[in-house]
Amino acid sequence: RPTLTFDNVVFGYEPERTILKGLSFEVPAGHQVALVGPSGAGKSTIARLVFRFYDPQGGRILIDGQDIRGVTQASLRQAIGIVPQDSVLFNDTIGYNIAYGRGGATMDEVEAAARGAALSHLIDRLPDGFDTEVGERGLKLSGGEKQRVAIARTLVKNPPILLLDEATSALDSRTEQDILATLHAVAEGRTSLTIAHRLSTIADADTILVLNEGRLAEQGTHAQLLRIG
Ligand code: ADP
Ligand code: ADP
Repeated sequence: RPTLTFDNVVFGYEPERTILKGLSFEVPAGHQVALVGPSGAGKSTIARLVFRFYDPQGGRILIDGQDIRGVTQASLRQAIGIVPQDSVLFNDTIGYNIAYGRGGATMDEVEAAARGAALSHLIDRLPDGFDTEVGERGLKLSGGEKQRVAIARTLVKNPPILLLDEATSALDSRTEQDILATLHAVAEGRTSLTIAHRLSTIADADTILVLNEGRLAEQGTHAQLLRIG
């Protein structure tokens, strides 16, 4: 498992407005680190920089000590898994929709990913609105099940680094709890950086980083932060 490092990262979308003001932190190999902070603090920006949607104007982002600017886009995409909020479903079985996450995935790998996302029971079913050749109707997936397909698609890549966003606003609270539990199980044993929206969901994180106006305001375990707060 790799280590992800932000080393004095300076970034702004516009030249006269700096969003990250010399940000340094580390996600040690196999550790779960969560980011919290008010809306606009720069949490999503951090995820975008890791994925190289943008490059910082100052400082470096490193994976195992190597500047990600020296890594090809292909190997970066292989190393980093992201579970999108909304995923497109194709006119094929849930299993094939999961396999789409990585070209060349074997059936065993697809089944393991489906198990990890608690989707095994739906693997041979079709998504909503599609007909099979025999005229069988597809299954209407709930929001939670669609989110599970997105999780399984990421799992099939078996990425060593996971970027998770806990924004699950479209889901009812019971489904949200289920999805968060699945995401946390998936992150276990990987190097993971989670954008969290509530402290209560990340009690198990190894470290919580509190971001405010592009700087680290606090960092510590859940218990330590509750003492400060
Ligand atoms: P968070 O995820 O913590 O809510 P963001 O990283 O989305 O915060 O945003 C940090 C700051 O960057 C905010 O002030 C936001 O308005 C600004 N911002 C985000 N995306 C863009 C963009 N594409 N162009 C210009 N400013 C942006
Ligand atoms: P792929 O299977 O094509 O490699 P990825 O797992 O790399 O897919 O990414 C899944 C989707 O999420 C892609 O469409 C990508 O553009 C999008 N994405 C990646 N990083 C971010 C991010 N930080 N914020 C929003 N969307 C992202």
